[in-house]
Amino acid sequence: MAKDIDELVDGSIEYLKYIKNYPGYKVLKESVPEAKENFLINPAPRIESGEEININITMVKDKPVERNISYGLIQEEWMNSESIEILDKNICGCKKCPLVKTRTNFVFGTGNPKADVVVVGEAPGRDEDAQGKPFVGRAGQLLTDILKAINFTRDEVFICNILKCRPPENRNPLPEEIFHCEPYLMKQLELINPRLILAVGTFAGQTLLKTKEPLGKLRGKFFDFHIGDIKAKLLVTYHPAALLRNPHWKKPTWEDVKLFRKEYDKK
Ligand code: URA
Repeated sequence: MAKDIDELVDGSIEYLKYIKNYPGYKVLKESVPEAKENFLINPAPRIESGEEININITMVKDKPVERNISYGLIQEEWMNSESIEILDKNICGCKKCPLVKTRTNFVFGTGNPKADVVVVGEAPGRDEDAQGKPFVGRAGQLLTDILKAINFTRDEVFICNILKCRPPENRNPLPEEIFHCEPYLMKQLELINPRLILAVGTFAGQTLLKTKEPLGKLRGKFFDFHIGDIKAKLLVTYHPAALLRNPHWKKPTWEDVKLFRKEYDKK
């Protein structure tokens, strides 16, 4: 039976394939409730990474096997961070994915740790990587102007990204990078507890909403973003870098951010 399960896992779960190939992640336990057996699959050498993957495979007689993969992280110190500042200290030395090798700085995010508004972008670019702050290049200047146009300063909101480290040559973030970095963002949101989230760009919108819908379908309306203790309204709009390339998207962006401000003013 162990062999069958191993094949199933290998064949179907993209991130497990990654974990199998990337030395440093240990799949600690695979539980098969019906079989009442545990299997260790592909133990990797770096145990201190503290990653635990639980794979529950339910074998139902004469039916396809159902897989329920939960990649709950075992308790790590950063998860108990009681403030945004402490969280920053606890995660800024992150070495969980290969971006640690190419980054200059870990870009945690900046702004008001008790902000009502959090702006979420994709990942640091060259300027952000150099300075350790989000949205400080050309796109960042445009984001600052957009916020200003709806009467927000950068200091009163919190600005961060899905990924905290720059992907080389600004390539798109990889699933395994998101896999490791997204829990940091969730912890940031939990600590800040914003009323509103502005996701800028397709990547941020799709990642936060767990969808593949194109930006055209996501923008212009609010979503309830309720995960664990986080309860916020989320609006997706164009990424400022996209606006620099396609100025005709400025008008719909303006519509979106006016809507965002209107919702903010409802309090
Ligand atoms: N683009 C982003 O998505 N984030 C930044 O911080 C800078 C550019």
